[in-house]
Amino acid sequence: MKFIERKVLKQKPGKDEPLGFGHYFTDYMFTMKYTKEKGWHDPQIEPNEPVKFDLATTIFHYAQGIFEGMKAFIQPDGSIAVFRPEENWARMNRSAERMCIPQFPADVVEEGLEELLKIEKDWIPTKPGTALYIRPTIVATRVMLGVHASTEYLFFIILSPVGSYYAHGLEPTKLLVEDFYVRSAIGGTGEAKCLGNYAASMKAGEEAEEKGFDQVLWLDAKDKKYVEEVGSMNMFFVIGGEVVTPALVGSILPGITRKSCLQVLRDKGYRVSERRISIDEVIEAAKNGTLDEAFGTGTAAVISPVGLIQYKGVDYVINGGKMGEITKMLYDTITGIQYGKLEDKYGWRKIVK
Ligand SMILES: *Cc1c(COP(=O)(O)O)cnc(C)c1O
Repeated sequence: MKFIERKVLKQKPGKDEPLGFGHYFTDYMFTMKYTKEKGWHDPQIEPNEPVKFDLATTIFHYAQGIFEGMKAFIQPDGSIAVFRPEENWARMNRSAERMCIPQFPADVVEEGLEELLKIEKDWIPTKPGTALYIRPTIVATRVMLGVHASTEYLFFIILSPVGSYYAHGLEPTKLLVEDFYVRSAIGGTGEAKCLGNYAASMKAGEEAEEKGFDQVLWLDAKDKKYVEEVGSMNMFFVIGGEVVTPALVGSILPGITRKSCLQVLRDKGYRVSERRISIDEVIEAAKNGTLDEAFGTGTAAVISPVGLIQYKGVDYVINGGKMGEITKMLYDTITGIQYGKLEDKYGWRKIVK
């Protein structure tokens, strides 16, 4: 793979500097271009520096673009592991399909990612709870203002050393149940990790933050009745011994952390359901004391306990505002596999060779 070297390397964050999420970026990136004539071509690793685009480029106007989020971890033996990357490439190609972006070769980008990780190994943080966040993205790069699928694209992967996603780490989050704005409807783009979904969610997110909440809990667009998910996490509830997560009905992002948690839970013999769950059922359970736990799952936050939800102006505290047992078990299991502390019996760690 072609490699273009930087003249001067960036200054890395200090060992004790809090990383936050998505503030620092490494020296290099992977890029690959698409044109109608040549297909996907010119995969290469080059300096991660500002790039120039014409302001009539499709991505700036119509948001024809998709992204992924994954993480790399330093293992106890010093090697690098990525968590289930093949799942991300498959989902990214499904997102591409929905957004009229041409399918890309997963083997080429996987090779590009692994090359990049080897070059950037010193950027991978090693403190507990930290990781190297991987952001693969495709943007439409044709210069043309008509509303049509672009004929040119740029695929890139940038890397960012990160700490915990939420400012207060593993502290239980506070969610506001959103009963006005919607994230996604059946037939819309909620199943795809496409750029516009996140722009559309910001208004509700800001209003929730102003009221002191961490994130919004979305309901279905049609009836505002069924729980869907959180901004960047899928939701789980533990109600009277049953672990419930909303079924993937078409408006929910099919999370890889969600899928991994379901497998761990089923393997350990928990009673697990993927089904529609109404907000009324959740509130009723909170009222009658059977809502034992609630948590969100996603690459950025891994497993995030939910300590409180507010619905129609009333606060419902979950598990005394503390992390529950199942939440803790999943956090320990998933991070144990990611950081190489537990046996990888599912083959979820892809070791970079
Ligand atoms: C990325 C994302 C998730 C979590 O997916 P993972 O594969 O577990 O990281 C959940 N919901 C939304 C809306 C997302 O964008």
